[in-house]
Amino acid sequence: MSRLDQYLKGVRKAAIAGHMHPDGDCIGSTMGMYLYLRDNYPGIEADVYLEQPKPEFSYISGIDRVKTELSADVSYDILILTDISSPERIGVAGPLAEQMENIICFDHHVTNDSSYKWLFNEPQASSACEVIWKFMDEEKITKDCAEALYTGIAHDTGIFQYSNTSPETMRIAAKLMEKGIDHSKIINDSYYQKSYVENQVMGRALLESILMLNGKIIVSYVSRKTMQFYGIGPKDLDGIVAQLRNTKGVEVAIFLYETDTVTYKVSLRSKDFIDVSIVAAMFGGGGHKKAAGCTMHGTHLDVINNLVGELSRQF
Ligand code: 5GP
Ligand code: MN
Repeated sequence: MSRLDQYLKGVRKAAIAGHMHPDGDCIGSTMGMYLYLRDNYPGIEADVYLEQPKPEFSYISGIDRVKTELSADVSYDILILTDISSPERIGVAGPLAEQMENIICFDHHVTNDSSYKWLFNEPQASSACEVIWKFMDEEKITKDCAEALYTGIAHDTGIFQYSNTSPETMRIAAKLMEKGIDHSKIINDSYYQKSYVENQVMGRALLESILMLNGKIIVSYVSRKTMQFYGIGPKDLDGIVAQLRNTKGVEVAIFLYETDTVTYKVSLRSKDFIDVSIVAAMFGGGGHKKAAGCTMHGTHLDVINNLVGELSRQF
């Protein structure tokens, strides 16, 4: 019996949901949960609610069944949230979370302060996928499910590089590999491969980046005009902040893109000692010690000044 079983007793319909602007861990954990239910619980009908995942994730079985809209008349026995650090971050399934009581949340964000009926938040875990893996029966994880879970672990660890990668993370990844997945293809297709335009925009963001605080902070931003010029959306900007952080001597990387008039989505990354989740939380966001985000208002210069001001206090 898996640890998950006890929460699924009597459940006939389950909704599974991730956060806005779903990343690899969000997609991997929602789909991993969906595939685990599909492959082992024939009596449960499950729906996954997410914003449309990038086509790069199309190798994940069942991803074409993702629901990007909530219809008014649906009801579920349980809502399973994964990788969601705060109720405002629930994307498509937000209204469900407001009206349901049987909610189980699997997460790994230090800033998670939600109060669901069942909350399993492990800030030490590499990924939401690692957290949900521990609730599953190893033998019942199919190859399809393993592909989804491996995707999330690989993405949230920066392909097993970041400090959130533990020996346990590697053991779980190894067990998922033993299910016969094509790990090289998963990593290439969903993580490293970029379209020509994505590379161009990343190149431009790097070219226009500036160093601040004696080279300890690097900042770059992309305006809506630039995004329109290249015909891209927020999903095509993934990876830019990680590349900025790779700069030698830098401790914090800040990347912003304009989402609306004088509104910016902010991504923060640190290398060693700065806790960027504190700064993100100050501006209404959250995340992890070394990877966090928020939305801020003002011109890009206002936003950068406010962030650098708070960060310099931490240095
Ligand atoms: P990213 O920079 O890739 O968007 O997000 C990095 C991390 O910070 C992720 O773990 C994400 O969940 C968290 N994060 C990003 N933006 C927000 C936000 O606006 N609010 C909260 N609470 N967390 C965020
Ligand atoms: Mn995650």
